Amino acid sequence: MLEVRDLRVAYGNIEALHGISLTVAEGEIVTLIGANGAGKSTTLRAVSGLVRARSGQILFEGHDITRIPAHRIVALGIGHVPEGRKIFTDMTVQENLELGAYIADPRRFREDLEAVFERFPRLRERRRQSAATLSGGEQQMLALGRALMLRPRLLLLDEPSMGLSPRLVEEIFAIIVALNRAGTTVLLVEQNAAMALSIAHRAYVLETGRVVLEGPAKELRNHPAVKEAYLGGG
Ligand code: ATP
Repeated sequence: MLEVRDLRVAYGNIEALHGISLTVAEGEIVTLIGANGAGKSTTLRAVSGLVRARSGQILFEGHDITRIPAHRIVALGIGHVPEGRKIFTDMTVQENLELGAYIADPRRFREDLEAVFERFPRLRERRRQSAATLSGGEQQMLALGRALMLRPRLLLLDEPSMGLSPRLVEEIFAIIVALNRAGTTVLLVEQNAAMALSIAHRAYVLETGRVVLEGPAKELRNHPAVKEAYLGGG
């Protein structure tokens, strides 16, 4: 479904990705793990067209999307939930979801809104509330719900567990698994490697802009270097 080939991305003169290659097959949850600054967010931003590739290729469902603008990439079926959620805190919950649907067919709006409220009952209860009044977990749900308004076939999730209590992390991860079972393919960036590897089918380990390890999530969970660096030594 997604194929990234030898991707290089630079911010000014500083190259952040030095030739990343990865694939995501339809139906998978694939996770990118690695330390701060390894290039995980940059990889997601390149896929959704928010930063430009210096070289390399990004293919989505066979189309070369490497030089396509971000708004057209969204329309092709790639949803991006950015790090830090980036919801509009001066708007209500429902207004945030309406904005998520900005390029969707307006005839589908009610149905899509209803589907998001069914998945996230707390958003329905709070739909008239300012998004600023939501808890961290609810804001993450809103960011996910907003991306779902466009029925993405591929969902890019950047650090969904950030700043959440362990209970809420469990809840958000259960939602990600449910979305995947319902047919959404997921590329997940996480600092919480243990959680990410517990739900992913496959994983890539990034270090300073390069893929240093890849494989089935189950195998990486037992890999000595991964245990040592990302799973607290265990
Ligand atoms: P984090 O979890 O901290 O976001 P990451 O693995 O997602 O880490 P990136 O955010 O992709 O890493 O950063 C990769 C490299 O690019 C880092 O060296 C970072 O300092 C640099 N970088 C990221 N964003 C920018 C930017 N907007 N301008 C300049 N350099 C940047």
